[in-house]
Amino acid sequence: MFKVVLIKGDGIGPEIADAVVKIFDAAKVPITWIEKQAGLNVIEKHPTGIPEDTLEAVQQYKVALKGPTTTPVGTGHKSVNVTLRKSLELYANVRPAKSLPGVRTRFDNVDLIIVRENIEDTYGGIEHNQTADVAQALKLITRPGSIRIAKYAFEMAKLYGRKKVMAVHKANIHKLTDGLFLKCFYEVAKDYPEIQSSDLIVDNTCMQLVTNPERFDVLVLPNLYGDIVSDLSAGLVGGLGVAPGGNIGDDVAIFESVHGSAPDIAGQGIANPTALLLSSFQMLQHIGLHQTKARIEKALIETLKDGIKTRDLGGKAFTNEFTQAIIDRLENPA
Ligand code: NAD
Repeated sequence: MFKVVLIKGDGIGPEIADAVVKIFDAAKVPITWIEKQAGLNVIEKHPTGIPEDTLEAVQQYKVALKGPTTTPVGTGHKSVNVTLRKSLELYANVRPAKSLPGVRTRFDNVDLIIVRENIEDTYGGIEHNQTADVAQALKLITRPGSIRIAKYAFEMAKLYGRKKVMAVHKANIHKLTDGLFLKCFYEVAKDYPEIQSSDLIVDNTCMQLVTNPERFDVLVLPNLYGDIVSDLSAGLVGGLGVAPGGNIGDDVAIFESVHGSAPDIAGQGIANPTALLLSSFQMLQHIGLHQTKARIEKALIETLKDGIKTRDLGGKAFTNEFTQAIIDRLENPA
């Protein structure tokens, strides 16, 4: 039995988390959930939005599945996600973008994974005004940070049987910073001769992603380009309702959907649990339950092929109907 921390979060979080738990129960996944809280629902008692015992449980059990949490606006309050990412040193943000049947988009065969460096680059919040009219921000790229994200991308490619890893950068302009990122990438690539390595400038990457996304496999990027290109890639396969993600460090990994807590539809029973379910697939791969992942994924794909979808994808199914349809399509373990 694996022990995984479950944080249901705010808004639609509990609805979509319950859907995933129900599917895992039906599929007899060998996971015991350790339920902990975070988000707006605990903010009265815990001003950071993360109770100490939640952080401790994530550190102890190493793996968590998290629903979205609401960030209060205008209170100077830090997002729960930023706090988790920084305090647990979750340096890799991994976001697969894969075409799904029945989800209408311009392309049918997208199957790529974005590996975004999650800590460095311009995200250190180091900026200041030189004068009232001149503002300056620091772009920080380090050798250890670049080596570990490149290593993560190649190791993940190896584990998932991927063939190509591409570094995306702007080293023609940012010669020292992105130049270092690229240099480190090729140093690491030498240790993975079975995987094809290449690089592409970020603007060209964007153009090719929206014209010929099928050619891409694994992409590894510094933080800012990764932030933008991962949303672009999510758009290629159907957007928020189907965009999963994982924040991963050497010790701890937290998997969650890209979308937020959707307060506009919370409590109506219409939320799409697909993005969190896809995030749970990443989690299953991370802990080595590859066959279990494949079995549940097959049931999800058959559900979508049969035209059973939630409203955000143009269907009529309520969350519980969609969840039950997946459960009905689960094959017994061999
Ligand atoms: P959002 O992603 O919550 O919602 C944007 C739109 O997409 C809404 O119309 C919503 O109804 C719809 N939507 C999102 N997920 C859906 C789903 N699973 N099924 C059906 N429809 C879905 O973005 P927002 O409204 O800008 O943010 C709401 C709150 O979530 C904010 O407090 C924000 O800070 C927070 N947030 C949290 C996370 C996280 O915890 N990972 C990520 C992004 C935003």
